[in-house]
This record gives sequence, C-alpha cells and structure tokens, in this order.
Amino acid sequence: MNADESALGSLAASRKIIVAIDGPAGAGKSTVARHLAQHFGLLNLETGAMYRAFALKALRSDVPLDDSKGLETLAADTTIRLETGEEENRVLLDGEDVTGLLRNQIVTDAASRVSVFPAIRAWMVRLQQELGAVGGVVMEGRDIGTVVFPHADAKIFLDAAPEVRGMRRFDQLGPKVAVQPEDVIRDLRARDQRDRNRADSPLKPAEDAVLLDSTNMTLDEVVKAAEDLVAAKLAQQDAPDPH
Ligand code: C5P
Repeated sequence: MNADESALGSLAASRKIIVAIDGPAGAGKSTVARHLAQHFGLLNLETGAMYRAFALKALRSDVPLDDSKGLETLAADTTIRLETGEEENRVLLDGEDVTGLLRNQIVTDAASRVSVFPAIRAWMVRLQQELGAVGGVVMEGRDIGTVVFPHADAKIFLDAAPEVRGMRRFDQLGPKVAVQPEDVIRDLRARDQRDRNRADSPLKPAEDAVLLDSTNMTLDEVVKAAEDLVAAKLAQQDAPDPH
C-alpha cells in the first residue's frame, strides 16, 4: 500500500462507510470483500456464513429444511455470532466455533433451503444490521444492497456466467474432492435458481448497484475494479458541496 492508498484506507474507516457486495455463488464476492477490507481498513462480514451456521443447526436438530414453523422455533433458541479474522470470519453457533464445518456440500445446500423463509431472513437481517451499524464494514451476501443496508455508501453486484463460476468453485475444491465439474455447475445453478426466485428478498442488483461481470476478468482485474469504485465513492463524498 502506498501513502495515498493508506490515507484512503484510514479515510474509509474513519468515515465508517458501508460497502455492500452482492451476487450469486462463485462470482468472487469473498475474495473481493477480503481485498477491499484490507485495502480500506474495513471489517469484512460474510453473511452467507450465518445462514450456513443456522443450516448446520437445523441438520443437527433434525428439523426438516422445509418446515418453516419448526425452523422458526429453532431460530428462537439459536445464537449466531460472526467475528472477523485475518482470512475468514469465525462463526460461533450457540457459542461453539463451527467455522470449519460450514463449507461442505450438505451444509451449502441446506443454507440455500433455510434462507427462503421470511422469518429466518428477518432474524438474520436484524443481526446483520446490528453487526454493520458501527460502519467501517464491507458486507457480502445476496440482499445487502437491497435489504440489509439499502443506504450503503457503495454497492457492487458481482456476477459471472454460471459455467465460469462453477469452474472456479471446482478448482477451489481441489483434487481431493471426488466431484465432476458438471456436478458443481449443476448445484450452483440450483442454488442460483432458489436465490433468484424466492419471494422474500430475491437475489437481484439494487437499483444503484454497480454491476461487475467477472466472466472475462482475472481476479486481479475484478479486485482492482472494485477498489477503484469504492475509492471513487469516497472521493465523491469528499468533494466540496457546490451549494
Ligand atoms: O454466500 P454463501 O454461499 O456462503 O451463502 C450460502 C447461502 O446462504 C446462499 O446460497 C444463499 O441461499 C444464502 N444467503 C442469503 N442471503 C445472504 C447470504 C447468503 O440468502 N445475504
């Protein structure tokens, strides 16, 4: 980081800005959010991890993933905390650190199922608004710019073609996991379908979000574009009022 960038970083943090990043699975949200957090000195909050933690609780409690009442009752008896760490968030489910248990296919699929229910979403949104209220955060998810922080200072909607997102996920899984690229792409499409078509806060860009399609971009290019965008927002806020 050079002197200008570092000054911009402290400016972002001192301004307590909120950066919202939304988009489908595998678009690169987590990577971009992590870089922005480092670059601008912000806290990085991954809301998907909260839905995943609740899904884990539902699986452990044998509450059917389509039983909205049962899930609501379970939620009333659940605490989820998100703590920021160097690389990823630490997730505490009823006080237990479940960070390492959330990224497998069963929990991933379950998270996408439990997140369609309005009562569950309302609870999560409340928690996320509390977490972000201090400002100085970059929050990523599906509904941050539309529902959680509709007045966020900068909103990015990160997208890419499903095949590209699927292949990125496949590469992340590595050779130890016995799945085919087609399986990963299929699962990702199913999740997209649910996220985009649910009645309550479906995945869609906020009207004032900047769309970034990373289909033909390298990760470095995407990160740079996102950084420029946030820097431009900050510069805009800093410009003297003409009136
Ligand atoms: O982002 P991640 O893949 O960890 O999210 C897991 C699931 O949680 C998503 O497939 C989506 O269904 C749900 N989710 C959501 N709203 C958010 C974040 C995640 O519905 N803000």
